[in-house]
Amino acid sequence: MSSTNPFTEEHELLRQSFRQFVETEIKPNVKYWEENKICEAEVFKKMGAQGFFGVSFPEEYGGSGMDMWAAVAVSEELSQANIGGLAMSLYAHTYLPLPVISALGTEEQKLKYLVPALKGEKIAALGITEPGAGSDVGGIKTIAEDKGDHFLVNGSKMFITNGTMADFIVLAVRTGEGHTLSLLIFDTDTPGFSAVPIHNKLGMHSSDTGQLFFENCKVPKSALLGEKDFGFYYIMSNFQEERLIASITGTAAAEAALEKAKKYAKEREAFGRPIAKFQVIRHKIAKMAISVEACRSLSYRAVAEYIEKGPGAYKIVSIAKAFVCEEAFNVINEALQIHGGWGYMEDFGIARSFRDIRLMTVGAGTTEIMHEIISKIEMDEVRHDKQLLKARV
Ligand SMILES: Cc1cc2nc3c(=O)[nH]c(=O)nc-3n(C[C@H](O)[C@H](O)[C@H](O)COP(=O)(O)OP(=O)(O)OC[C@H]3O[C@@H](n4cnc5c(N)ncnc54)[C@H](O)[C@@H]3O)c2cc1C
Repeated sequence: MSSTNPFTEEHELLRQSFRQFVETEIKPNVKYWEENKICEAEVFKKMGAQGFFGVSFPEEYGGSGMDMWAAVAVSEELSQANIGGLAMSLYAHTYLPLPVISALGTEEQKLKYLVPALKGEKIAALGITEPGAGSDVGGIKTIAEDKGDHFLVNGSKMFITNGTMADFIVLAVRTGEGHTLSLLIFDTDTPGFSAVPIHNKLGMHSSDTGQLFFENCKVPKSALLGEKDFGFYYIMSNFQEERLIASITGTAAAEAALEKAKKYAKEREAFGRPIAKFQVIRHKIAKMAISVEACRSLSYRAVAEYIEKGPGAYKIVSIAKAFVCEEAFNVINEALQIHGGWGYMEDFGIARSFRDIRLMTVGAGTTEIMHEIISKIEMDEVRHDKQLLKARV
């Protein structure tokens, strides 16, 4: 690893082997999965069997024990397939619920859930959002009543990635008044649980999104993740990896769109010359290149700081998430513009990138919530401000 290139030889070998996987197992199916809105459990099995889920997880639970740069290499390669939906489902399995189990789970929980999930034998999801509460995590209504030897769970969750496929869900539930929440590892074969797919999405067609229902679900006490009533604090501090991955994939998607725009601008002729000869197009390309570089610098800096400080890196992670997701949308929007009418068609893949990228400023904490977090830190109000604690950090 040099001072400018964070990737070691080991990371590069991983990148090459995952690139091969993307070429053979993913790229040939992209069109079919997207057009038919399919997310196949088989892909999870194949990813797990080859060890690609576990690259940054501890070896004792079946991971490779590498650092977060390994996850970056995998994410960058997957972005080359331009299938944001499937990528989101794979990340919603790996980088949303599993780091929390790795950080807070008991040995028994890690063996029961983390190990098979890293092998791709069990599919995981994270259930926080509800029909009436997204950014406002304190507004969660799904309740887990303490019944002595078990919890009784009632309520519903909305927009949950892998919601209808998941074998287990890291579930945020209310266990008291106000912001008193807890996290449970919920088995989806529990009687009283049901899930319906949500198909009417703008993009991310090849991801599974579900609405979940919990009716008098009996959950054993052993399902509690971390300490009871600490869920709110866990949600605030333990979900940085999804934002890092969003920053990395946003950067990669923007770069891919820039490359397509450059190629198209050189080939497409108008008024007797390639459109790349028009200064306005050239300057668009220059601005897109500046954005991509800025996105990469920020997101890489966030990864480096996260490796050093863990959840304590949340300021730079929030800055990267806010900046990259907005900029990536702008870059892809400009790439579509450079493609003219063809950009609006499915032929060049820009239309799909445009649909998929639109989620990035909403999912994993909206841009406004990122701004809220950053402003509280800048104004030195973090410790005292109860408002910040209400938002998902
Ligand atoms: C395809 C898809 C997949 C998803 N996957 C998952 C998943 O796997 N697990 C999961 O738990 N959730 C998931 N979500 C939900 C996602 O995290 C939420 O949609 C997001 O957090 C925003 O919540 P909301 O939709 O309730 O919007 P709201 O919170 O109602 O926000 C609406 C608008 O108000 C703004 N706003 C809210 N509060 C403030 C404030 N304090 N200051 C300024 N502006 C504010 C928001 O920024 C936004 O612009 C998914 C969503 C989608 C669409």
